[in-house]
Amino acid sequence: MQIIRVLLLSAVLVSCSNETKENPLTIYTSRQPQLIEPLLEEYKEKTGIEVRLLSGKAPQLMERILVEGERTEADIFMTVDAGVLWQAAEKGIFESVNSDVLNTNIPQHLRDPDGKWFGLSKRARTIVYSSDDVSKDDLTSYEDLANPMWNKKLCLRTSTKVYNRSLIASMIDSIGYEETKMIVKGWVNNLATEVFSSDTQVLKAVSAGQCAVTIVNTYYLARLAEDPTYANLRLHWANQNDRGTHVNISGAGVTKFSKNKSEAIKLIEWLSSSDAQETYAGANKEYPVMDGIKVGATLKSWGVFKEDLISVEKLGSMQKEAVLLAQEASYK
Ligand code: FE
Repeated sequence: MQIIRVLLLSAVLVSCSNETKENPLTIYTSRQPQLIEPLLEEYKEKTGIEVRLLSGKAPQLMERILVEGERTEADIFMTVDAGVLWQAAEKGIFESVNSDVLNTNIPQHLRDPDGKWFGLSKRARTIVYSSDDVSKDDLTSYEDLANPMWNKKLCLRTSTKVYNRSLIASMIDSIGYEETKMIVKGWVNNLATEVFSSDTQVLKAVSAGQCAVTIVNTYYLARLAEDPTYANLRLHWANQNDRGTHVNISGAGVTKFSKNKSEAIKLIEWLSSSDAQETYAGANKEYPVMDGIKVGATLKSWGVFKEDLISVEKLGSMQKEAVLLAQEASYK
C-alpha cells in the first residue's frame, strides 16, 4: 500500500510539473490524509501553491527523510505527540524557524523553544467514566485513580503508547519520579483487566461495564458521542484543582533539507492562523491552539477546562524516564 502511494506521488510530481506556476510543497505526515486534504485544497485556491502529502507511520517517515537527505521532497514533517516531534528534532530532521506569526499564534508551551516544531492542535487526555457505575463527584485527578476505591474498576491503554508516556512524563514533572511510580503501581493494582491497545477499545470496555473508568484522548470520546450505544460515557476534566488536565499536540516543522523553506514556513503559519484553525482542529475533534476559535457541539458541551501548562517539549525530553517508570511499576 505504502509503495503504491509513493508511486502515485511520483506520477503526480511528473504530470503536474508544467501546470503549476508556484513550486509545490510536500508534507510527510503520519496524520490521516483526509484530516488535512481539504485545508490543503483551500490553500491551493488561495495561493496557487500545490501541497502534496506522503503519508505513513511516523518512525518510517522520519527514517525516510534521513535516508533521502538532500534529495528528499519533504519540506514539512507533520505528526502527533510532542514525544514524536521531540524525537524528530533529536534526529536532526528539522530546521530552526523564527517566525513572529508562529510565536504569536501558538502559545509558548505548545512549541519547541528552538523553533524546530510547532503545535497546531491540542489533544487533551483525561478521565472518562460510565454514568452507570460512577458519580462525577467520585472523580478528581489522575493520581486519585490509584486509590483502592477503584479496585477492579480501572481500564487503561498500554503504557507503550506515546500518549501514556507523555502523561506519565507530565506527572513526573509535577509530583516527582517516586510519587508518580507509586501512583502508577496503584493504577496497575486497580486494573479490571489486561491493558488495551487503543483508546477506542478501552472506551467501549467502560461503556459495556467491563470497567468503570479510564483515561483517553478526548477526540476518541467525541467520535463515539453521537452513537447512542455509548450514551453512558461521561468526561471528567482531571486535576482541575491543581496543575490542570494533560494536553499534548499535533504539530509540524520545516525539514532541514527543504529547498522551499520560506514557503514551507508560510504554510505552517497559515495552519496556525484563525483562517485555518477551526478546520484543522475540528477535522479530528481536537482543540485549536489559538484562543477564540469555534469548536464543535460535543467539545462545547464539555465546557472549558484548566490545562496543564507544562512545556510539551519537556514531555518529549522525559520519554525515557517515563518508559523506565512504567516498567518499574509493571504497567505493560
Ligand atoms: Fe490518536
